[in-house]
Amino acid sequence: MMNTTLFEPEGTAVAVPDAPTPLPDAPTTLPAGRQVVLDAVPTRHALTRQRQVPAGRGRWFDWSANPYRGCEFGCGYCYARCRDTSIGHTFLGHDDPQDFEDRIYVKHGFVDALQQDLRRRVKPGEHIAFGTSIDPYQPIERRERVMRRSLRELARAEGLRVSITTKSQLVVRDIDLLRRVAKRNAVTVNVTITTPDRRLARFLEPRAPDPGLRFWAIRRLRDAGIDAGVFVMPLLPGITDGEHDLRRLAKRAQDAGARYLCGQVVFLREPSRSHFVRRLRQAYPRVAARYEVWTRQGARLPAEVRGPLVARVKALAAEHGLKTRLGLEPPQPRLVRQACFAFGNASV
Ligand code: SF4
Repeated sequence: MMNTTLFEPEGTAVAVPDAPTPLPDAPTTLPAGRQVVLDAVPTRHALTRQRQVPAGRGRWFDWSANPYRGCEFGCGYCYARCRDTSIGHTFLGHDDPQDFEDRIYVKHGFVDALQQDLRRRVKPGEHIAFGTSIDPYQPIERRERVMRRSLRELARAEGLRVSITTKSQLVVRDIDLLRRVAKRNAVTVNVTITTPDRRLARFLEPRAPDPGLRFWAIRRLRDAGIDAGVFVMPLLPGITDGEHDLRRLAKRAQDAGARYLCGQVVFLREPSRSHFVRRLRQAYPRVAARYEVWTRQGARLPAEVRGPLVARVKALAAEHGLKTRLGLEPPQPRLVRQACFAFGNASV
């Protein structure tokens, strides 16, 4: 495995390289004095089929796509620190939850695998969700451009539904390609914003972009005609659920032109649970104790805690003229009928 440097100067619009960028060979120091080590893992499939679950039980996409393993943004509540081999780091030999944000893996061959998956596995009208267990626009994407090259592949497809979930304004770099993908597919960008409060966001999401940049990204996407909205995920009872903050978030989403505002309450599996509670104790010891109690029996908080909070977010969304579900409309019937890919003569 190769160790590679992480940061390079801020890029703006970038050309899509024809070949994967070679990984240089040394770990780098982050501004905060931390080190993130980048490695590469080979990829056989780019897309992971979601388990079949009964309608209404949470499956909102058919395929997940995550071009990296690990996420440098390091959100304290991140559920992807789990031991699930399909998304976690454990099978790569990392048991420490901190490794999830300190050791980032590039999936080499991801774009080629995506092309094959689009040809052979994906059916018309299916929903591919990028960024279900990592942020696809985390800092490494500035150099690796796996998302950019993936969008170039998707721009050759028709009749699909594509969503991208991110906390990063870097997605704006790819507006040109998002527009191309959106010509023949349904596309939306879910910008995750858990709080408009910058200091709180810094505590909860130490290396994720400032919330103001995320609202800015929504504005830019919407001005470019790209569907976009806000994921208030996760909602954190006792931390981000103040009436003033939620109202401010909904208002800023509205001002940014967001089409929807969806909220979901945090769920905490081990080792994410212990990691989050440990971090919470530093600033919110009483709240940390409540989270310990709430999650003693399972990853989900009690229904009496979740239900009213989700209902409040829905009411605020409605009040601000925002939809409460993903803005991803099914592709037009014409596109579904004609769904095929421009790779040779292959059709799906
Ligand atoms: S941005 Fe998403 S994937 Fe990355 S650490 Fe935060 S919650 Fe986890």
